[in-house]
Amino acid sequence: MRIERIDLLHVQLPLNEPYQISSGTLAEEHAIIVRLHSGGVVGYGESCPLFAPVYSYETTSTAWYVLTEFLVPALLGQEVDSAESCLRLMDHVRGHNFAKAGPETAWWDLAGKLGSRSLAQMLGGQRSRVESGLALGLEPRIEDLVAKAERLLADGYRRLKIKITYGWDVEPVQALRRALGNIPLMVDANSAYRLEDVEIFRALDDYGLLMIEQPLHYEDLLDHARLQRQIKTPICLDESIHSLRHARDAVELGSCRIVNVKIQRVGGLAVAKAIHDLCHKAGIPLWVGTMPETGVGQAAGLALGSLPGFSYPTDVEPSLRFFRDDLVEPFIEMGRDGAIAVPTTPGIGYEVSEAKLAKYLVEERRFEA
Ligand code: MG
Repeated sequence: MRIERIDLLHVQLPLNEPYQISSGTLAEEHAIIVRLHSGGVVGYGESCPLFAPVYSYETTSTAWYVLTEFLVPALLGQEVDSAESCLRLMDHVRGHNFAKAGPETAWWDLAGKLGSRSLAQMLGGQRSRVESGLALGLEPRIEDLVAKAERLLADGYRRLKIKITYGWDVEPVQALRRALGNIPLMVDANSAYRLEDVEIFRALDDYGLLMIEQPLHYEDLLDHARLQRQIKTPICLDESIHSLRHARDAVELGSCRIVNVKIQRVGGLAVAKAIHDLCHKAGIPLWVGTMPETGVGQAAGLALGSLPGFSYPTDVEPSLRFFRDDLVEPFIEMGRDGAIAVPTTPGIGYEVSEAKLAKYLVEERRFEA
């Protein structure tokens, strides 16, 4: 299809409460919604790096700049008939995967709508429901963490993930095990530790965790391989895997036994699927992680999660868990079984509300071919 028009919409949505991880605190959600127009049909995608460069080097402002100056001009007016050709047109831009994920995922939505196929169908998904996991940030007190976990797990979530950092690791895990028993539990360090901290991870080995996510540096593969050889709990990599190449290297080095795939971090659905295929073949299970993202990005994550290798619960959660409002209609909802239905209607499978886009708009730019 020919890309006739591209719109960029920077939106800002209020969060229910601030969310704290080892590298910073999020107070609100910033996202860039990308609309691709072709033949009277509109495809929606999302670019959502954090507002500050505390998860990756990208921010809302860098994504806006890279989109307006480089990615939109590369795609506008072009015939784009496959995800591969979409990526090829953006390939001269090095890195900036969050920025690329916007038009790339919008292309999948557009192609799905034009061809009357759901994203899950296009990707080769096999599940009709995807299990959801609860993710909790750093809390001021252990009692608050346990109380919040108990209250929210009652909704049906299939596992609990907590953030850890120095001074907030073994103790909260111990408290959760004492209060909640043998629930599926994992921790995410967001690169807070060094290899020299191996004793902390050996101590965590006693608690039967599903995995320890990204314990070491955000670009590291080698030290993770060294750490994995010294502990029993599987290491899951998140920040360190930006591409199919990193996934291949991690598998060969033994840097992890589980991979978290985020569509944003790897630059779209095609690379996410390629990483899935490589890891699944190598016997490495995966799961779909998320950034704080609106329902537009989360809907693509649900479709990805229907692929067979995504065998751990996803971080995709119901719309109202983090936000007071969402851009999609209906909202993303979780059943009592802790699972979310994989959309079956064409494209991302949710309507995107133009009224909500207008309500939360910070800035808009339109580009005509
Ligand atoms: Mg993570």
